[in-house]
Amino acid sequence: MLHPGMPPSSPDQSVMNAVEHAYGRYEQQAERWTEGYIRRGGTVHCQSGCVHCCNFPVRVSLAEALLTASRLSPIQLDAMRERAAEVLSNARSARSWDEFFQRHRREIGYCPLLSRDTGRCTAYEVRPTRCRDTFSALSAEYCRVGTLENLTRTEQATYQRLVKTTPGTDGLSHYIAPLEDLSEPIWDTAARAMQQQWGLEVWGDFWVLTTLTQDAGFMDAVRQGQAGRAAKRAKALKLWHEEIVEIG
Ligand code: SF4
Ligand code: SF4
Repeated sequence: MLHPGMPPSSPDQSVMNAVEHAYGRYEQQAERWTEGYIRRGGTVHCQSGCVHCCNFPVRVSLAEALLTASRLSPIQLDAMRERAAEVLSNARSARSWDEFFQRHRREIGYCPLLSRDTGRCTAYEVRPTRCRDTFSALSAEYCRVGTLENLTRTEQATYQRLVKTTPGTDGLSHYIAPLEDLSEPIWDTAARAMQQQWGLEVWGDFWVLTTLTQDAGFMDAVRQGQAGRAAKRAKALKLWHEEIVEIG
């Protein structure tokens, strides 16, 4: 059973502030880059209400998870906890990353923070890095689960040609590579802030880490820089899988 966490301590607040600041810098840089991209003839196909990428697995730092959790309601946190259990169950039974990934998208489905009524993220201001830096240079149809997996050979050739000739991609997929690259400083900032304030780093699944932030025992171990104790606590809470939570 989870024990309610204390209000964020000052080191936690510093970690969250660092991440929030890095998000702000990213938004400015991404906006500037996107303006230039559009001026050069590029198209960003993302728009409000477009949700196909909200069923991807999302990896975050505990710093980001803490920030997201700080703005969620008890109902949202309950939904995150349910989702965390599904993610872990999937990880325990999946025989490969591909199986984990496909089942995540097809069976676990959309993030509980996605409003099914509006198609909007209900935690938009504090959504994780991966949700900020994923943009498509081609139609959103290519982001829909099953589209790429079910292309015929001819359609695959067309897709590959399109990707190669569309500016902004890395030539392999339709996502906009420079907008992903621009988010590197957010990961670096989170890593540095966690090391400085806690003496360790925690990375892993978005829903599992957000749930772990709500446990006082887990967070106390993190604040003391005690990786072993934090892992033990996560195991006791059944919020542990070595490929889903990384502490060190
Ligand atoms: S990445 Fe794809 S699914 Fe996500 S908002 Fe952009 S076009 Fe839509
Ligand atoms: S946090 Fe928001 S943007 Fe990210 S997957 Fe969930 S609903 Fe989508």
